[in-house]
Amino acid sequence: MEDANVMTCPYLTEVTMVFCQASPQKKLIPSDRISTASTCEGDGFSACALYREALARALHTIEELETELKDVHEKKGAQS
Ligand code: SF4
Repeated sequence: MEDANVMTCPYLTEVTMVFCQASPQKKLIPSDRISTASTCEGDGFSACALYREALARALHTIEELETELKDVHEKKGAQS
């Protein structure tokens, strides 16, 4: 519970931060510094190289999992 009589430093500020999960560097950026014209906030994100690389990795992982599942089902089918 907060004590209403406790004074915090006047320079203490709360801000919402964002970062790119696709980037190897997790650099926090205050969300009020992101403009609507940026690639990340607008429709242009699909042209971003980081986005495309992350999407390709995710699709590759899905393909690998589907191949593994298919192999497991084929082995089960062969045993019965
Ligand atoms: S648009 Fe690119 S840089 Fe922006 S959040 Fe998406 S992947 Fe990261």
